Formats: sequence, C-alpha cells, structure tokens
Amino acid sequence: MLADIKGQARYWGFLLVKLAAAAMGSSAALWFLNLFWPPHTPLFHLNRWQFMFDLGYTTLVMVWFLLSYGMLYLAFWDQRYRCRTCLHRLCMPVETGSWSHMLRLGRPKMEYICPFGHGTLNVEELQITGTVTPDWTQHGDIWAELFAEPKGSDKD
Ligand SMILES: [Zn+2]
Repeated sequence: MLADIKGQARYWGFLLVKLAAAAMGSSAALWFLNLFWPPHTPLFHLNRWQFMFDLGYTTLVMVWFLLSYGMLYLAFWDQRYRCRTCLHRLCMPVETGSWSHMLRLGRPKMEYICPFGHGTLNVEELQITGTVTPDWTQHGDIWAELFAEPKGSDKD
C-alpha cells in the first residue's frame, strides 16, 4: 500500500518536473526573444509595444507559442506511455482484438507492457465516445510467481 502511494507520488511528481522544465524552457525562450525588441520587457511578459504591431515579433511569438504548446503536449503524451511504478517507457506494443471477431477477441486495442512487468496499458484503437482514458492494469510481482518454490515439493 505504502509502496503504491510512493509510486503514485513519483509518477505525478515526474509529470510536475517535466511541466516545470517546459515552463522554464518556454519562459527562457520568451526572455531571449524579448532581448531583440525594445523596450526592456519584464520576465514572463510579451512586449506589448511590439506584439500585434511588429510583424516579425508577432510571427516569432506565434512560433514560440506553438513550441510551448508542443512541449506541454509532449509532457502529457510521454506520461501516458510510462510505467506507473518505475517510470520506464512502456514497450512491446501488441495489437489485440479484431473488428471482425469482436465477440470473441474484443475491440481492437494496443497493449503495452512495462519492461519490468509492473503492469500493462490498453489503448483503444478507436475512440468513439471522445477520448478514452487508457486502461492501466497493475500486475503483482510476476517474477515472484515464476520463481516461486513449487508447493509441497519437499514434503510428500
Ligand atoms: Zn515498471
């Protein structure tokens, strides 16, 4: 239970670190951009004497906005494909399910697994009802089961 809470804290903490890094990178880029256009602009601010008046500045601000948005998107996208326990990238995507055999195999999904076997992530192929949150299934220690002593091996 405690390990579970610690894992959760690490998982969301990692997202916060990524978002903070993205915000820092983004504000540094804006600060750098503002160096080239007078007057001096305080940190985290657009130069309001140039924005919407100077075409070059406005275009570069647009590019800066797109880059910042892209970094934000990447932070969340990357988070989705990470293990909830150890933060490793999930690997080995496997297609499961089939439209033509839906009753037997279920709907098409992409299944990812943590390289250390902490869990699997099921991503629906078709998101009919808006964006479906991928389904994370936590596994116990799968290796413990594999290497367990066979029951009743020494007493007969
Ligand atoms: Zn893991």
